[in-house]
Amino acid sequence: MVETSVYLHIPFCRRRCGYCDFNTFAGISHMIPAYVKALCTEIEAVAQQQSQRVELATVFLGGGTPSLLSSQQYQQILETLHTHFDFASEIEITSEANPGTVTAESLAALHDMGGTRMSFGMQSPHPQDLAVLNRQHRFEDVVNAVKWSHQAGFKHVNLDLIFAIPAQTLERWRAALEMAVNFGVDHLSLYGLTIEEGTPLYRQYQRGLLDDIDEEVAAQMFVEARSLLAQHGFTQYEISNFARAGGMCRHNWNTWNYQPYFGLGAGAHGFVNGVRTRNAASVAAYIQRMRAPQGEWPAAEEVAAIPFEEQMREWMFVGLRKTEAGVSRHDFTERFGRKIDEVFPEALAWCERNELLEEFGPERESLRLTDRGRLLGNQVFMQFLGE
Ligand code: SF4
Repeated sequence: MVETSVYLHIPFCRRRCGYCDFNTFAGISHMIPAYVKALCTEIEAVAQQQSQRVELATVFLGGGTPSLLSSQQYQQILETLHTHFDFASEIEITSEANPGTVTAESLAALHDMGGTRMSFGMQSPHPQDLAVLNRQHRFEDVVNAVKWSHQAGFKHVNLDLIFAIPAQTLERWRAALEMAVNFGVDHLSLYGLTIEEGTPLYRQYQRGLLDDIDEEVAAQMFVEARSLLAQHGFTQYEISNFARAGGMCRHNWNTWNYQPYFGLGAGAHGFVNGVRTRNAASVAAYIQRMRAPQGEWPAAEEVAAIPFEEQMREWMFVGLRKTEAGVSRHDFTERFGRKIDEVFPEALAWCERNELLEEFGPERESLRLTDRGRLLGNQVFMQFLGE
């Protein structure tokens, strides 16, 4: 069954964190009202281009910092969506937020207008880690954000955590995980820090101001996280994502199932009807385009039909990220009319030789990463992407 989603990008932050290379901007919050208006214009324009009214299974407001929006602005966006799209009865509506930018009132308002899930960038409880990352919030902000979310009625709350931060010890990482699970949230996303070229953190690193990150320690942090989270009832359902029963993020799940999603807002990427779109990244350019929307994808700078062969590769790439469910040979054939084993004989043989994939399920018809494969996922994905 096809489940369609929408991703809405909110590219504003109070200040840029040292490691951030996302499409987000600080110091232009005065543009938020014009941006929200432009986003609503894009929602309407894109909806009108569809051959029939589309039902949305999930909505995800990501950033940036969506929680810099006022309750009225959230409402304006969600009402516009609801006017131009149908909402599935069990729709999931997630907003990312930064601790320190929410209040008990703002969360209650968001829940009242249909929000079902909050996702907070906790990153670490430790002030030294937060200082290295140049994060603005304090640990107390996370405590309040989670407490207020639960009080507001959000059953689903995610915390993002970062490991392999320079100078972070294994003990400190364990303590971070313990604190996160004790908050009673039902979802955790764990990311190893990558120091991207062009970021302030990269420049610090180049100047020798940061400790080296030991890859073995980083791998050990992840292995320990998996076992600690399992003890606390979390299942690793994707490379970086862990959920308690019922806590899986459906929006991301649909992405890994290669389902369609509209990507709206500055710099957003979408994938609908086999076409990938990439919107203008600059806020000013995006707003300008939306003053007179034109064409099927009025905010897109790039629109590309994904060739059939590439769709098969991408389907494997995203599908194998599902660490428990993996990919089904039957589903592949149903979607593409071809057999996995005939399309990817070399990649499969390589993964088998290196013990990175296993067959499982009835008649061993499905494939997923082995324990070793979960640690070396990128190597597996590259095999299927043909790189
Ligand atoms: S809050 Fe998130 S999006 Fe904003 S600067 Fe920091 S890492 Fe980037």
